[in-house]
Amino acid sequence: MVMHREHRFLIDCGEGTQRQILRSGLGFKRLQKILITHGHLDHILGLGGLLSTLTRWEAIEHVEIWAGRAPLRRIRELLFGVVFRGERAQLRIELKELAAGLVAESNSFELHAFPVTHRGGHCFGFSFQEKPRRPFMEEKAAALGIPQGPERRELVQGRAVTLLGGAVVLPDEVLGPAEPGTKLVHVGDAGRTDDLLEHCQGADALIIEATYLQREAELARRFGHLTAMQAAELARAADVRRLYLTHLSRRYRERDVLAEARAVFADTVVARDLDQFQVKGEK
Ligand SMILES: [Zn+2]
Ligand SMILES: [Zn+2]
Repeated sequence: MVMHREHRFLIDCGEGTQRQILRSGLGFKRLQKILITHGHLDHILGLGGLLSTLTRWEAIEHVEIWAGRAPLRRIRELLFGVVFRGERAQLRIELKELAAGLVAESNSFELHAFPVTHRGGHCFGFSFQEKPRRPFMEEKAAALGIPQGPERRELVQGRAVTLLGGAVVLPDEVLGPAEPGTKLVHVGDAGRTDDLLEHCQGADALIIEATYLQREAELARRFGHLTAMQAAELARAADVRRLYLTHLSRRYRERDVLAEARAVFADTVVARDLDQFQVKGEK
């Protein structure tokens, strides 16, 4: 789950997701956008249970599920061919087809989707990018005699204000140069990284799969997955701040995965179920 201010995005919904949402204490509140990286069952099978619970949960009236074309077809079959067959779901479920580009936007951030290469096709990754912000310079404002209050809000929003004595203050006088916002990139299963580089560039957080270790690179290639080393090489090439590995195979020990990745990219963590991380840009 990616959370930003009042916005929540669930990314993928494997079996057991509903139970983990409950265990995490996050609950179902405002859970209105579900983003699906691709249509393999370990990424969508939990939608049946979750959606069937949400229909009984009166606080939510509608849910959007975003996925590429083929995954969306599979989700439609799962939900309307099996889970809600012959019944009317109490809740409005909107199935939205992903395309590369802007998916959602608020006044503080943009969410973009980009294509990912993996078995099955129509796979997408997601980039959450805060809009650049110009910091308010306290000292300059104080020197200009701008009182605490609505004048400051006006200036931050880019409007000139007239002070009590008649002086006019322009936003440029109290706003510093624009600072880029925080960027978080999520990639699900992926068979290669060269086509991901530009989308991951400069991310404060890159969340990506690492199903295999390099000693089984041949298996990784055959099944369209990454090794921990490949994920780390991408993080290094894209100059990301921190790498979060997910989708680990049970056949490896976590410390071996970490060791392989950290040899290439030091700031790597393995994200476990129910972990929570705060992602902040450099200030
Ligand atoms: Zn997959
Ligand atoms: Zn998978």
